[in-house]
Amino acid sequence: MIKTDGNPAAVQCESERFGVFTCMDDAVGAAELAQMAYLCYSMEDRERFVQTIKTTVTAPDVLKIISLMSVEETGMGNYEQKLIKNRAAALNSPGTEDLVTEAKSGDKGLTLVEYCPFGVCGAITPATNPSETIICNSIGMLAAGNSVVFSPHPRAKKLSAWLVELLNKRLIEQGAPANLITTIREPSIESTNEMMKHPKIRMLVATGGPGIVKLVMSSGKKAIGAGAGNPPVVVDETANIEKAAIDIVNGCSFDNNLPCIAEKEVVAVDCIADELIRCMTQHGAWLMTDPAQIQALWELVSNDKGGPDVNFVGKSAAYILEKAGLPVPDGVKVILMETPGDHPFVREEMMMPILPVVRARNVDEAIDMARVFENGNRHTAMMHSTNVEKLTKMAKLLQTTIFVKNAPSYAGIGVGGEGFTTFTIAGPTGEGLTSARSFCRKRRCVMSDALHIR
Ligand code: NAD
Repeated sequence: MIKTDGNPAAVQCESERFGVFTCMDDAVGAAELAQMAYLCYSMEDRERFVQTIKTTVTAPDVLKIISLMSVEETGMGNYEQKLIKNRAAALNSPGTEDLVTEAKSGDKGLTLVEYCPFGVCGAITPATNPSETIICNSIGMLAAGNSVVFSPHPRAKKLSAWLVELLNKRLIEQGAPANLITTIREPSIESTNEMMKHPKIRMLVATGGPGIVKLVMSSGKKAIGAGAGNPPVVVDETANIEKAAIDIVNGCSFDNNLPCIAEKEVVAVDCIADELIRCMTQHGAWLMTDPAQIQALWELVSNDKGGPDVNFVGKSAAYILEKAGLPVPDGVKVILMETPGDHPFVREEMMMPILPVVRARNVDEAIDMARVFENGNRHTAMMHSTNVEKLTKMAKLLQTTIFVKNAPSYAGIGVGGEGFTTFTIAGPTGEGLTSARSFCRKRRCVMSDALHIR
């Protein structure tokens, strides 16, 4: 604790100077004051703050700490791949360059349409990408001229508070107002609800499952909902089968299948299915063939509501096999099995490296199945094929926010593919892959009868 002004009543926590509060109302109030001050800062200042977040997070010791804390505190994911995700979130999230001005000029003058701040954003973050989401949301929201209050998943509260405090310290050193990024030390469902209802919060951004997305969309405020997925991957007879196998195993096992974009089920055209499975087993997949074993595995990793048991979400294939009392092959990344299309491993978003393969008679049937398995989330899908017509057909019919061709799923968020990175992929509300401009209001500024120089 430190004294602020010699008055015993005015005692402030050290951490409260750097964004981490005990009570939600204080976190929002401080973020509002910061945003008011921030309105008078220049675009150059904003970009300097964006760069500060990037350099802070990519410092090797910080990257290491947040990646380790994430795995240790949540009990989910893979340290090496958290490093990749956190680095990508920092390096590839767009800053102020994303705020492109539209201009219309003519005899009646010049009109500008600019991306302007929304005010104080309330961002709800998931347990599955806790630091990644704070990094990319902070970069985009601050670039846009907003401040942000984070309501993290309680399973990642220590990591979130640590990161928010560090970012505030570094931003203040660079001349930013205090508390551009705030959070609370003990987040809960109640405090998230308080934030969502708080009159000073102008925009809500929820990155999480269907429950929280529905809540923000019914809040009466501007809301961005980045919800659940169940991404299918289709492989047809024209694909490079070995490459498809490697890509699928790598995508499915990335961060132990935590990313909402990760391959969750395979639909393989019958004539190449055996070859695909054989290649996958040569590149880190372990094939489970006994139906009784598959059933026992389902019972082990599911809960009584027919969804994933949280104790197995984001765990490695080796961990799951061990808990199932099965031998753990060296280097195993994915547990593979053939199932019918109505198996819960296919239909449920499990977020663990268990990968069902469903056979289809031909590519058209495979695409139809993938559409059903994707479950209308319109989130992410992959296809391995060299048939441009069928690639186009699948992209058109599934209408997913991300469609990846001939690559692992993570190519869709700028890891090994073109394009920027984000961990807030807003399918339900339509912003798509979010960036600074997603967190803006568009405003028009008109100069009449002048500044048209043609
Ligand atoms: P979750 O829905 O359990 O929690 C997400 C956040 O919402 C947390 O902060 C949680 O505390 C809060 N929350 C949940 N229910 C709430 C309620 N009733 N009232 C108030 N707050 C509530 O999800 P999770 O396990 O943290 O993350 C995994 C889910 O998020 C998966 O479904 C995954 O697909 C999805 N996800 C989507 C994206 C995307 O960009 N579309 C990114 C990451 C995760």
